[in-house]
Amino acid sequence: MKEYAIYPFSVMNITQNYNQGNHIPHWKNVTNYSDKPWDEACKDSGRSYFEPQNDFIIEEVLGLNTSTTNTVRLKSVNKLYIPYKEEADYLYITLTHMNEDNLKQVSKGQTLKKGTKILLEGTDGNATGNHFHITANIGKYYGLKQNNNGKWCYTYEKSLLPEEAFYIDSSFTTIKNSNGSTFKEKPVDRVGTPVSRNDKADQVEVLVDNLNARNGASKNCKKLGYINKGIYNYISKTENDGYTWYQVESGIYIASDGEWCKELSKVVETDTSKEEIELLKKQIEELNNQLVQKDSEISTKNTRIQELESKVVELSSKEEITFKWSYKASKTATYKIPLKENEELYIK
Ligand SMILES: [Zn+2]
Repeated sequence: MKEYAIYPFSVMNITQNYNQGNHIPHWKNVTNYSDKPWDEACKDSGRSYFEPQNDFIIEEVLGLNTSTTNTVRLKSVNKLYIPYKEEADYLYITLTHMNEDNLKQVSKGQTLKKGTKILLEGTDGNATGNHFHITANIGKYYGLKQNNNGKWCYTYEKSLLPEEAFYIDSSFTTIKNSNGSTFKEKPVDRVGTPVSRNDKADQVEVLVDNLNARNGASKNCKKLGYINKGIYNYISKTENDGYTWYQVESGIYIASDGEWCKELSKVVETDTSKEEIELLKKQIEELNNQLVQKDSEISTKNTRIQELESKVVELSSKEEITFKWSYKASKTATYKIPLKENEELYIK
């Protein structure tokens, strides 16, 4: 799953952007070193924490017992997706102006896990009120260098504008003042790989394209994004929070209210139905044998019918004989009968 760089403050209140006031000489008309800082004053009541929404490792702590303004340089533990470019990359952040007592609590090599509240905004150095002076960067680090405008810059291969470095998770950050920057909302991830229909498997079909996938079978479990539409083989099924929960892949759960997704019917092949199939096969074979026998009987009967028909024809032709005359012999004797050519003589 993609990990996006998320703006690390619960209230955004950019009091001076990269293109305002004393930040301009950090990059304008610069021929050597530059960065593009912005000032984050957070909610402006008391001191607020830097609350990373990704894991960061501390690469350097600057300012303790030196004239440099208190600063930490951070590198993201993972490559992050940022609005600036397509591919994920390591994101480097510098945070400046923490007070000394606060800065002492962190050290090089320490990991600031997502949600860690250690670093507080402060007023160390040339600061008029509590805030963080921030830069966001990618690529190689060249050092804290003074440029030809006299400004000290955390110089990396590429310095990013705040809206190029971070997405906003509006469920975490409230924007009080973005000071001319337009941020993109964190993209919604899509999870799940649908499979083909299989009536021998336990399957559920996702019908909508905005159904949340979570890492457990409860509304309180973490959202992973939206599940892709389509058919899934489900691993388990449970009832919770008034929904039917299906585990559709390892670590991916979805809730059904009966409309978002539907369970697909399964064909169960039992031993009973196998026996029934065998019995029916035997019956079909028996009926086929009977058909063969009946065919031969029909054939015999047909032969007999043909014989009888030809007899009828023969007899019918005999009935057609007409007699010119007849004579009945009264005794046994020799009779002389004159016949013309083609006349026939029948004796009964
Ligand atoms: Zn500043």
